[in-house]
Amino acid sequence: MATEVVLASRNDGKFAEMQALFAPLGWKLRSVAEFCDDAAEETASTFVENALIKARHAALVSGLPAIADDSGLEVAELEGAPGVRSARYAGEGASDADNNQKLLAALKNIPDERRGARFVCLMVYLRHAEDATPLIAQGSWRGTILHNPRGTHGFGYDPLFLVPDLKRSAAELDAEVKNRVSHRGKAARHLYSMIHDAG
Ligand code: IMP
Repeated sequence: MATEVVLASRNDGKFAEMQALFAPLGWKLRSVAEFCDDAAEETASTFVENALIKARHAALVSGLPAIADDSGLEVAELEGAPGVRSARYAGEGASDADNNQKLLAALKNIPDERRGARFVCLMVYLRHAEDATPLIAQGSWRGTILHNPRGTHGFGYDPLFLVPDLKRSAAELDAEVKNRVSHRGKAARHLYSMIHDAG
């Protein structure tokens, strides 16, 4: 079983969550940024294809097994937007604050009952760049979009994502609680049972 695995993400918030999620496997996660300055281009229209593109690129440049997740926020009222474009909703190079502002503007005057959303995460594991049998796991997390940001933890759309059961925004949750209930936590746990079963 591999102990060094490259993670195909340059997002610090995501990297920290993934490190905690994969700690139980005893893996040392290395960032793709250690091996290559250029990011893989996420050209596909589905999360799973983008995750595979990123994992293949990371495995190629590092020579290590790779994990990638492609994730995003889907808002029903916006027909699934920002979706696969979540990181660049407000344009290439957009900050989290820009994206959050654009989301609030898109939902201006939309009442609470029509602000349902879900985070989705597609996580893949490739043993090497040519691996023809990738392991693929999916997780989702339902919530609603707030009218104003709340909380300082996490990243991305966390301050606008209300978790109804907990009555807190995702940015008001401790990292450990978020990992227990989030789309990424669910996908990671599916993935490790698959990795374990695959031997
Ligand atoms: P990716 O790195 O291409 O998968 O982009 C994912 C984007 O989706 C992030 O930049 C965030 O905007 C959003 N996103 C995904 N997961 C989360 C999360 O757990 N919290 C907040 N935003 C998230």
